[in-house]
Amino acid sequence: MNPERKARMVDTEKMLSSLGSASDDTEFYAPMPAGYRPGRAKYVIVFGTVMSGLGKGIFSSSLAKCLKDKGLTVAPIKLEGYLNVDSGTLNPYRHGEVFVLDDGMETDMDLGTYERMLDQDLSRLNFATSGQIYSRVLEKERQGSYLGRDVQMIPHVTGEVKSKLRELAVASDADVVFVEIGGTVGDVENSYYIEAMRELAFEEGPDSCTFVALTYIISPPMLGEQKSKAAQLGIRGLLATGIQPHIIACRGKEPISQKVKEKLALYSNVPIGNVFSMHDCTSIYVIPDMLREAGLDEVVIDTLRIRGRLHPEGETKARAVWSGFVNRIQSPSREVTVALIGKYTSVRDSYASIIHALEHAGAAADCHVNIKWVDTTELDTERAARAIDDVHGIIVPGGFGVRGTEGKIACIERARESRIPYLGLCYGFQMAVIEYARHACGLKDANSTEIAPDTSHPVIDILPEQKQIEGLGGNMRLGGRDVEIKSNTLAARLFNGAPEVRLRFRHRYEVDPQYIERLEAGGLVFSGKAPDYPIMQILELPQNVHPYFIATQAHPEFQSRPLRPQPMFLGLVKAALARADSLDARQTTPADTTGVNAGT
Ligand code: GLN
Repeated sequence: MNPERKARMVDTEKMLSSLGSASDDTEFYAPMPAGYRPGRAKYVIVFGTVMSGLGKGIFSSSLAKCLKDKGLTVAPIKLEGYLNVDSGTLNPYRHGEVFVLDDGMETDMDLGTYERMLDQDLSRLNFATSGQIYSRVLEKERQGSYLGRDVQMIPHVTGEVKSKLRELAVASDADVVFVEIGGTVGDVENSYYIEAMRELAFEEGPDSCTFVALTYIISPPMLGEQKSKAAQLGIRGLLATGIQPHIIACRGKEPISQKVKEKLALYSNVPIGNVFSMHDCTSIYVIPDMLREAGLDEVVIDTLRIRGRLHPEGETKARAVWSGFVNRIQSPSREVTVALIGKYTSVRDSYASIIHALEHAGAAADCHVNIKWVDTTELDTERAARAIDDVHGIIVPGGFGVRGTEGKIACIERARESRIPYLGLCYGFQMAVIEYARHACGLKDANSTEIAPDTSHPVIDILPEQKQIEGLGGNMRLGGRDVEIKSNTLAARLFNGAPEVRLRFRHRYEVDPQYIERLEAGGLVFSGKAPDYPIMQILELPQNVHPYFIATQAHPEFQSRPLRPQPMFLGLVKAALARADSLDARQTTPADTTGVNAGT
């Protein structure tokens, strides 16, 4: 390191060490987590301008993947502007699915993107909301931690934000922390995050942060050309906060023209070589290669001066394996159709992880999985059940409340009786128990107390531990739990004979233990349960009764990864392929070729 840089580092360390606690002697304030080593972690910070929904999470996770493939340790974090303490109380209709981490944190769906793209389990350290930040500040205030100071947005609230990033840096020992700022530059609710990032760069010193402005280039049809003004003004907004972006990444339908790039470069003080086109592409999985080919990863490495930390030996192999996956996604040999039976089917984001899990399983089985959306709140039970006759498999996903449940139960009955492959996820597990109790065990009135509190057969009832928790926020059984797998079952085969697996949960209700024996006597197999508790977690039908009928109280969709498809989804897709084969075979029997329809 040259002496000038070294002196700067020493300065930074000196300044940081004096920032740790509130006092009257200094206006600086940045609580430092124990073990924080200034200069060890570098930061890439991604802001959105012009509008939300540009895919900041996909961009940022793809960029993080490029650096991870070069041997760097990366740790992502999403900073949400909203005041909810977590995403658990958000309506999936408005905000997309609630993603659950292994430690039980309920987060925004972007955390799913990071886990999948990086093949890395994340925790509450990787997610913050304004609700969390303010709660922490108010708690400290009540404890008198601010030593008589008036508690202010700057430096105390921004101090908490910086401290959250540094805690992640310590815990992950990351070379690079990727920070995604939720919302758009100019929003009131994320403005203090932006200010915190400016302070972070100031405190950490030169070469510590790369600022990326992700922007959108509009292309009004009546003009027929790309216009850069909205992007210019958006980036001006960022410059006005005291942040000079190092990189501008332009979203748009078509590749961004040189003229537009030049205007942005000039208007924003960003070298033209650092203005990139991130136009629409066929699949999100090609984005890491798109970034690499454009050289964006190299610009980050240079601005952060971390070339000396790279271990690129594994990069070629990692890229080859990934390309194999992308090729299988893009040119599959076959296709199958799986019906997704739900309530929010008009909002695809509410089922994001399921869609991805099917994509991963499809890639592994070399087929494309079409999804047929069946909204049971729109159809009567008879029509709902008939809607699945032509598909190769069905999924009943997680859900809450009464609406549409009878339609789901009708679909499960049809799938069970017509031997259509079935995968039930959480509510889909509970619905399968109700269906089986009603139609195979003679408990006509069987139901969940979530749906019919006065049912005479509450086969699904609220967990005793959940009964004690009031209110709606954070009162579910959440996060990763061990599941004991019964040997010689479909579940055991799917999980390669593992005696125990870890799945992620998010539920309030469970199978009432009083009914376990009756359900089992009726032929239902509980092949996964909580160790030491009578909490049923996987059910199935024996394979001589049904080719693939399995459901879990968990949400296995959260654990599927591009290169490691979740076994229950892979099993469904393979069973769907087998059903497609047998339907095809029926259509081409000799009887069929003579004009008599044998495909009954
Ligand atoms: N509503 C059910 C419960 O609370 C299922 C929850 C879910 O599907 N995530 O147990």
